[in-house]
Amino acid sequence: MAGTGAFAEIVDGDVFKYYADGEWKKSSSGKSVGIVNPSTRKTHYKVQACTQEEVNKVMETAKAAQKSWAKTPLWKRAELLHKAAAILKEHKSPIAEALVKEIAKPAKDSVTEVVRSGDLISYCAEEGVRLLGQGTFLVSDSFPGNERTKYCLTSKIPLGVVLAIPPFNYPVNLAVSKIAPALIAGNSLVLKPPTQGAVACLHMVHCFHLANFPKGLISCITGRGSEIGDFLTMHPGVNCISFTGGDTGIAISKKAGMIPLQMELGGKDACIVLEDADLGLVAANIIKGGFSYSGQRCTAVKVVLVMESVADALVEAVKAKVAKLTVGAPEEDCDITPVVSESSANFIEGLVMDARDKGATFCQEYKREGNLIWPLLLDKVRPDMRIAWEEPFGPVLPVIRIGSVEEGIHHCNASNFGLQGCVFTKDINKAMLISDAMESGTVQINSAPARGPDHFPFQGIKDSGIGSQGITNSINMMTKVKSTVINLPTPSYTMG
Ligand code: NAP
Repeated sequence: MAGTGAFAEIVDGDVFKYYADGEWKKSSSGKSVGIVNPSTRKTHYKVQACTQEEVNKVMETAKAAQKSWAKTPLWKRAELLHKAAAILKEHKSPIAEALVKEIAKPAKDSVTEVVRSGDLISYCAEEGVRLLGQGTFLVSDSFPGNERTKYCLTSKIPLGVVLAIPPFNYPVNLAVSKIAPALIAGNSLVLKPPTQGAVACLHMVHCFHLANFPKGLISCITGRGSEIGDFLTMHPGVNCISFTGGDTGIAISKKAGMIPLQMELGGKDACIVLEDADLGLVAANIIKGGFSYSGQRCTAVKVVLVMESVADALVEAVKAKVAKLTVGAPEEDCDITPVVSESSANFIEGLVMDARDKGATFCQEYKREGNLIWPLLLDKVRPDMRIAWEEPFGPVLPVIRIGSVEEGIHHCNASNFGLQGCVFTKDINKAMLISDAMESGTVQINSAPARGPDHFPFQGIKDSGIGSQGITNSINMMTKVKSTVINLPTPSYTMG
């Protein structure tokens, strides 16, 4: 059970502690932040509301700890990461339990998130030792006008203190996808978990503590992003920010100083369906892509753009599958579970009502109880409806019927988002042309958009992000190139 056994020391009464300088601490604020269970809409857990002084202290210790961590051999850093991964997997149950209660993620998917996170840490350790174990060697005589008098050696050095801010929907996985690359590259790490998901994150951080990482190298500051977020992201002690979330990321990028930013933001992933597509395959992918975790995924299918000639058949096939989705409690592993908050449910309802008022065809009756929204397919959506453009982050999927491929590409590219997209056709040549024309970070051919496997590059363009994630790209992003040039008194040619 969360907060018991190996995790007993991370909680004090009914409030979970924050983690700084290798210890679990109570905030001097004496205040806590409640975490509301999306299913019951009652406060389920509490975390510390950390103060600005506590953030200052954490930044100081993170800076000091990073200096000695950077001198720790790479293989030892990797060894500790492997240890943390094993401990995390061993303790998957209490962490998954917290995910069920904090973000209403179905029980099985919650366990999968923790196991996947352990695998990500191990993969990152392995990738890191190879990637960071290499540098480059350049000679001067390849550039016009130079003799071979200069040898340039480059290596990758850490940035310093990395601030990691993950969102609620994959709090553990998206936290470790920042923590592991930062640490293997020799950085220290300050984590600001999402409020919904903070308790799962604190348990995950304790697994790093149990693995015996040096004091101060990892810290976890809790509190509402709206209250301590700006202080953290504008803190002079931060050397890099890795953020995943919504529009907040755009505001952060405007305020952050001259430091590297990795921003993975929202998406409106389009699914373009051509006449020759295997409609059974498309329907299965629309269900998986649009309704997994109740549509609360950055890479969920968020708009279907289907050729008019096959639209009736596709809508019928998707409707039949929607009817089979189970709706209810995350503890019972239902497909559709309550969305994360009441305000999120209200936002989704606003999009649905706007579509209704403007004449969309409802394939199911709209139904909501508390934060639980039944899956809904909206057919014949038109561009004047908000849902054609906005990210519902819920189990509601619009279908726009298109008369040509160009129309589909135009809709996709008119979006301010550009995370992923997908195209379904048996014609690989057409698929390639469409993929090239789509302004999105990744295009999946004949499958729903997906972030994984975790070593694949993952990036958004336009308002969907800055930089690229994926294990290798994140390690590279959290390092800087350092050169040393050896200047020879006379030209020297190898074997010359
Ligand atoms: P969010 O509201 O932007 O919050 C993300 C994180 O930012 C949370 O930890 C939040 O903390 C924190 N935060 C809030 N205000 C802040 C501030 N002023 N300064 C610094 N941090 C602040 O997003 P969300 O609702 O958790 O997640 C849903 C969004 O994330 C969707 O738009 C989705 O598409 C996107 N997403 C993108 C990806 C991707 O890789 N592209 C992956 C997953 C999700 P609190 O919880 O305490 O407010």
